[in-house]
Amino acid sequence: MSDLPSRISVREVGPRDGLQNEAPVPTEAKIELIDRLSGTGVRRIEAVSFVRPEAIPQMADADEVWRRIERSERVRYSALVPNLRGAARALAAGLTEIEVVVSASDTHNRKNVNRSTAESLDDIAAIIDAAHQQGATCQVIISTAWGCPYEGDVPESRVLGVAGRAIADGADSISFGDTTGMATPTRVWSLVGGFRSAYPDAALNLHFHNTRGTGLANVLAALELGVADFDASVGGLGGCPYAPGATGNIATEELVHMVADMGIGTGIDLEAMIDAAADAERIIGRTLPSQVLRAGPRTRTIPA
Ligand code: ZN
Repeated sequence: MSDLPSRISVREVGPRDGLQNEAPVPTEAKIELIDRLSGTGVRRIEAVSFVRPEAIPQMADADEVWRRIERSERVRYSALVPNLRGAARALAAGLTEIEVVVSASDTHNRKNVNRSTAESLDDIAAIIDAAHQQGATCQVIISTAWGCPYEGDVPESRVLGVAGRAIADGADSISFGDTTGMATPTRVWSLVGGFRSAYPDAALNLHFHNTRGTGLANVLAALELGVADFDASVGGLGGCPYAPGATGNIATEELVHMVADMGIGTGIDLEAMIDAAADAERIIGRTLPSQVLRAGPRTRTIPA
């Protein structure tokens, strides 16, 4: 236990990755959710995605949401962008942290953006430059890092090659995305271990989906390797575009609940995050998968 980080940084991705995979919700509800999350003590929120409305109608109001949320001094807000045009929109709107995505698997990348992984990496180099010119940071998210819905397992050497190219092009950090929930602790140890050996100075964030129930086990495996940056979505908001009905990201309150009892700080008020999850459930109008939302924290007693 002594090698585990004493604190971790949680990025709340419910407003973006979560809501993007749910039926569209009103702008007001998004603003209300983000403002509520800003008050939970979470330090990073992926607030919006600057994409074409025709491509992702759930994010069509990104500019308005970003303009109208009450930004907390304590929170770093970020936006996901699909291309240089989206990056320009985000930077013009005043974002200082952007994220770009590339799939480790060619087939997944082509289905998403009609380009090969190598072609997307060329685009990303220009996006990183654009961000840096404006004094912003750019994280490169490598999706399908633990497997692709079309190709199956993706060779680790390929994932590390994509990461290496992004780092060489100036990426401020790398995030491995388990887009379809194919990671297991063994695979986390292997890929993260390989990454650490190859790029010991590179900052690493991990993004797990709980599609097959291994989300928190994967977090524990990564904690053992000293990883301290994780994505999670309030209530477990979201889903998987390739498996209708499947669960979304690991739930933020479940992550906080687990690590708090391990002596690992997050800065997040667990009860406030559970309240935010209840709010998210009301906004979405369906039961969210978070078990800590259902059962409450382990220390919550009932009147005798
Ligand atoms: Zn995701």
